Amino acid sequence: MTCYDLHCHSTASDGSLSPESLIARAVEQGVDVLALTDHDGTEGIAQAQQAALNTTLSVIPGVEISVTWGSNTVHIIGLNVDKNNVELEQGLKEIRHYRQQRAEKIAERLEKSGISGAYEGASQYASPVMLGRVHFAKFLVEAGHAKSINDVFKRFMVRNKPGYVSGEWASLEQAVTWINQAGGQAVIAHPARYKMTATKLKRLIAEFKTHGGAGIEVVSGRQHPEEIKTLAKLANDFELLASRGSDFHSPDNAWVELGRIPELPKGVTPIWQTW
Ligand code: AMP
Ligand code: MN
Ligand code: MN
Ligand code: MN
Repeated sequence: MTCYDLHCHSTASDGSLSPESLIARAVEQGVDVLALTDHDGTEGIAQAQQAALNTTLSVIPGVEISVTWGSNTVHIIGLNVDKNNVELEQGLKEIRHYRQQRAEKIAERLEKSGISGAYEGASQYASPVMLGRVHFAKFLVEAGHAKSINDVFKRFMVRNKPGYVSGEWASLEQAVTWINQAGGQAVIAHPARYKMTATKLKRLIAEFKTHGGAGIEVVSGRQHPEEIKTLAKLANDFELLASRGSDFHSPDNAWVELGRIPELPKGVTPIWQTW
């Protein structure tokens, strides 16, 4: 059976493997089709495609767009996007500009709580275009302010903590529209991770669908097995396609491996059936 993993990260965002190493690892793990979906950028795709040329692996060009929906941050995956599409490129450029400003604000806030040099420190771990919370977390661990990345997120990088700045990302409509303009399919990433009530999640899915969204991730890394059933039902109720992605970031996280997630349940329509 073909192994699809349609969600992962490289050093082009907050993953810790270069696109080349990521491809090598995916091949080792028996993945057949891998979508590279870095946060708010497509810089890693050309390298990944190049690295996959002499392998059995197919690379799907993707992206994971940060979206502000009411008071929530939601992630929308674009699959099979044309990375040279002008609307998508321009949209991602604006988000990255915001990301840069947010990074400066995060550093200022950390400075006020007695931690200096965070901007430079975090930059050491990041590609020049994409400074995110994970890079700050790596710096804070390295500088001895926390014992693990997870610890940093709990103590610094979430709402009401010293290193948190609330997001002003793209709108849901913008993200879905850019992806569609770039010839891709939009997918709601890890729907269970937003901790929304069932009613709110349905409202998100309904709105997403109105804007032209195509699917939801029914199987994702770090997910309870029973959530798969709920998400499969939501996909079918809303007549959306089902996607499967590990959200792999780093070999350091032993819980999430490329391709090593449950199969899509019977009864849903896999998004790759439309390819
Ligand atoms: P950002 O887009 O810069 O706000 O960062 C979001 C990223 O932070 C996610 O894609 C994850 O990679 C990471 N992240 C969020 N929460 C946690 C957590 N509790 N532990 C480790 N990484 C996390
Ligand atoms: Mn991430
Ligand atoms: Mn995400
Ligand atoms: Mn992700």
